[in-house]
Amino acid sequence: MVAAGAERNRPSDDSPTFTKSQYAEHIAKLRKKLPSDDFTIVVTPPFVVVGDEPAETVRYRSETTVKWAVEKLKKAYFTSDPKQILDIWLFKDKESYQKNAKKLFGKTPDTPYGYFSSQDKALVMNISTGSGTLVHEIVHPFVAANFPNCPAWFNEGLGSLYEQSGEVDGKIHGFTNWRLAGLQRAIRKGNLMSFKDLCGTTDAEFYGKGGGAYYPQARYLCYYLQQKGLLQTYYRRFLADREDDPTGYKTLKAVLRRDDMDKFQQEWEAYSLKLKFPDPDRD
Ligand SMILES: [Zn+2]
Repeated sequence: MVAAGAERNRPSDDSPTFTKSQYAEHIAKLRKKLPSDDFTIVVTPPFVVVGDEPAETVRYRSETTVKWAVEKLKKAYFTSDPKQILDIWLFKDKESYQKNAKKLFGKTPDTPYGYFSSQDKALVMNISTGSGTLVHEIVHPFVAANFPNCPAWFNEGLGSLYEQSGEVDGKIHGFTNWRLAGLQRAIRKGNLMSFKDLCGTTDAEFYGKGGGAYYPQARYLCYYLQQKGLLQTYYRRFLADREDDPTGYKTLKAVLRRDDMDKFQQEWEAYSLKLKFPDPDRD
């Protein structure tokens, strides 16, 4: 899902975005709506993690996944935290996820893994499916807080890049993942769109019927930029030039130093066909 209402807030510094008393007030309200006594609450700035796995597991996930991803993503891209305290719900299994999401937010999730809802101020996860989707969803509220009007293709390209991630030289790094098979199939069939068209997709198109097909191309464009050391540069220039180039296509050409984007696409497709999953670069 995409978050609405992105605006810049304060400039980056080391002081926490929310005070202790703001968290205390937030948690007092949160306690009142907990679906059962099985939930553990862990403050993990700028989020509050709440889950019904054993307490030590909730603490472990908040430390090794949430805190880690927040730190690394902020170092790489984001200067501002989300403007409000968001909850990260980690439901222990499919049953808890479906039942409690419906109870808390009034609707049964339409994805088996998890989603971000700006309206509910929550990331809602079936954590039994793994922590990849959690890192993906953490990207979205940060994009909303830092990149006004970021198009869905780039928001989702970045989010899905990090759904299979680890650390390389102390930095967050996306590895190849399950979306590679779909990408390679589409390339072999000649089914991919041009990057100009991908960048030009509206959010409605991207999230609309059949929109799932756009994710692999968006992800592996981001992956390519990362592998060439250009992804952070691209993010910064796209953000800075977004009024002149809202789709990011002109900036993409500039960062790649390419005029002939048909030729680039041929090369990128050949590159992508050689990629392997599981990732041989991952230890
Ligand atoms: Zn997403």
